Amino acid sequence: MSSDRSYFADWQSLEEAVKRCARCALYKSRKNVVLGEGSRNAHVMLVGEAPGATEDEMGRPFVGAAGRLLTMILESLGVKRESVYITNVVKCRPPGNREPKEEEVEACSIYLESQIILLKPQIIVTLGNVAGRKIFALGNNQWSSVMKMRGKIYKLNILSLSVSVIPTLHPAAALYNPQLRTLFEEDMKLVRKVMESVVKEVTGELQKGKSRTLLDYLKPSSDDR
Ligand code: SF4
Repeated sequence: MSSDRSYFADWQSLEEAVKRCARCALYKSRKNVVLGEGSRNAHVMLVGEAPGATEDEMGRPFVGAAGRLLTMILESLGVKRESVYITNVVKCRPPGNREPKEEEVEACSIYLESQIILLKPQIIVTLGNVAGRKIFALGNNQWSSVMKMRGKIYKLNILSLSVSVIPTLHPAAALYNPQLRTLFEEDMKLVRKVMESVVKEVTGELQKGKSRTLLDYLKPSSDDR
């Protein structure tokens, strides 16, 4: 899919283009474009649906109530928010927080695809149905629904990268529903477990006593933002 696309060659050109983007109608009502944030050396990319009101205001992803829950759960598992990369399928807020339309998702796809190519994540966590559907489409795989797909690891080939995709709920769904929150926490524990094995694989430091902690490898470097 999309092999004929011209991707952005670096983060700077991607940032400059997205700031002035008018590829779909969402540019008309946005206050800020929300490209994403986190470590550009991250092994893990979290993909949500679209910015909400707080994100639109601040130009940052997942900073409202749902974002605070996500950050809290990550940190309770020993994963610093700055050590992963967080973004959304569409980079501008749909009015009234409606679900992004198919044409908006398609228009914005070049940015998400470029982010994946630049970051080369080993793990992609999809938050909610819109993100799951999009990432599975990029991996040429069938998506059904988040409740059927969640809690498992899918090995997909996405833009010529081998990626472990872990679908889960959108944290907004888990905010006021204790049952969904439990499922969300279970899924994030799975993410943490897979992160650990990826880090071990990458570093090759499996011998007892020599292994550093997960966080040693997840510290943001100087070019992170
Ligand atoms: S949602 Fe994406 S494609 Fe649409 S205007 Fe914003 S950045 Fe451009």
